[in-house]
Amino acid sequence: MESLKEKEKRKLSTLPFNIVFGVFLLFCMIKCYTPRTALQAEARKYQSHKKFEDTSFLYDLPYEANTCHRIIQGYFSRYTHKYKAALDFRMKKGTPVLAVRDGIVVRTKDDSNVGGWNKKYRGDANYIVIEHADSTRSSYRHLMYKGVLVKVGTQVSKGEKIGYSGNTGYTFSPHLHFMITRYEKGQWVTVPCRFKTHAQEGYLQPLKSHTSLNIKKDLSSPSRTEQIIAN
Ligand SMILES: [Zn+2]
Repeated sequence: MESLKEKEKRKLSTLPFNIVFGVFLLFCMIKCYTPRTALQAEARKYQSHKKFEDTSFLYDLPYEANTCHRIIQGYFSRYTHKYKAALDFRMKKGTPVLAVRDGIVVRTKDDSNVGGWNKKYRGDANYIVIEHADSTRSSYRHLMYKGVLVKVGTQVSKGEKIGYSGNTGYTFSPHLHFMITRYEKGQWVTVPCRFKTHAQEGYLQPLKSHTSLNIKKDLSSPSRTEQIIAN
């Protein structure tokens, strides 16, 4: 006669596949959602708009006004942002990349022509790093080959076209990796930041699309005050 244990075992093995798969999926979702570090918990609070009093700098999005890109990987996600408050915007190769804030270009690379979903490409991403007035830095990575339009040492304005997106380095599909870093206790750390978009002023929610408002300040035409003085 079949023992109770064997009966239980048989029952389990005949459970419909979709139930087993559903439970597994639920387990993965819970695991992904649970913050692993204090920083990640803090970032989760920002992204779900649970932090209200905030006077941190309001950045513009790194792409042209009225264009829209989806965040395919957010802060401290389980894939390549495990320890980084970085954002990945899905972006076709050759999309113009704009400065998110005034600053000085401190580092660039655009001589790489390789990339893919393999860790061997880690050092092959093309990039631009801009330093801002409060010593924070914005980084734009995976740019296309010869896709950097600015030189180290030059001053750039918010909304200025600085390069073109691509798919160089360790990357699963064409996208722009963006992050803000700050020098703290002897090392560079990534920090979550607020953005000004068509829909909001605040931290961006991952897996959603966000429309840019980023327009370069027109430095050539005199301001209204200057016009009044001139008249
Ligand atoms: Zn990334």
